[in-house]
Amino acid sequence: LLRLAGVTKRFGATLALDALSLDVAPGEFLALLGGSGSGKSTLLRIIAGFEAADAGRLLLQGRDIAPLPPHARPVSMVFQSYALFPHLSVFDNVAYGLRRDGVAKPEIAQRVAEALAMVGLTGFEGRRPAQLSGGQRQRVALVRSLVKRPPLLLLDEPLGALDASLRERTGFELRALQRATGAGFVMVTHDQAEALALADRVAVLERGRLAQIGPPRALYDRPATRYVAEFLGAAN
Ligand code: ATP
Ligand code: MG
Repeated sequence: LLRLAGVTKRFGATLALDALSLDVAPGEFLALLGGSGSGKSTLLRIIAGFEAADAGRLLLQGRDIAPLPPHARPVSMVFQSYALFPHLSVFDNVAYGLRRDGVAKPEIAQRVAEALAMVGLTGFEGRRPAQLSGGQRQRVALVRSLVKRPPLLLLDEPLGALDASLRERTGFELRALQRATGAGFVMVTHDQAEALALADRVAVLERGRLAQIGPPRALYDRPATRYVAEFLGAAN
């Protein structure tokens, strides 16, 4: 689905991504772990097109997406701060991207209703973000990205603002949603338990490089480095 080869990004003297190569399979749920400043958000932003790489290749479904602006890429991104439009209703927040893409009105209504139903938010269409709980807002942000039916969804700490129990429940809902849509997910998280529980594969970033990538069990049982071991809470 997604192929990154030698992706490099510098911010002045900081090497945020150091010739990073990574593949994501169709329908795969990849969790991205790594310390603060290891390059996780930069990587997602480059895939989504909000940032340009200095070097490397970026293929989605075999197509070079590097020249495409963000809205033309078959990718959606859920931001950590969810960035809903405060003055728009839930319906309008979710419909926003579809309207911009010129989707016909009846289809917008149908797709928004379907997407809201998937996360249990039917009946909330007329509310504004300020009238929702944190968890509900987070789900609206998620739905706003899913409604475009992207083959690839990028999520930067999508559960960060939730308390532990809601976080766990929403995490499993997310996984179910991912299975139902068949989309590839790349999710940044600080929570190793969450990564181990939800992901098909886990990638650990260390200073812009891939320290290790593989199935959760393999990383947990056989961490390649002390850094990976510490990240997964495994003994090494
Ligand atoms: P966190 O877990 O704290 O969100 P992260 O892994 O997402 O961290 P990035 O935001 O990708 O880290 O940042 C990687 C490195 O690039 C950091 O050293 C950061 O300071 C630097 N960086 C990121 N964005 C910029 C920018 N716009 N200008 C300058 N430096 C930046
Ligand atoms: Mg980040």
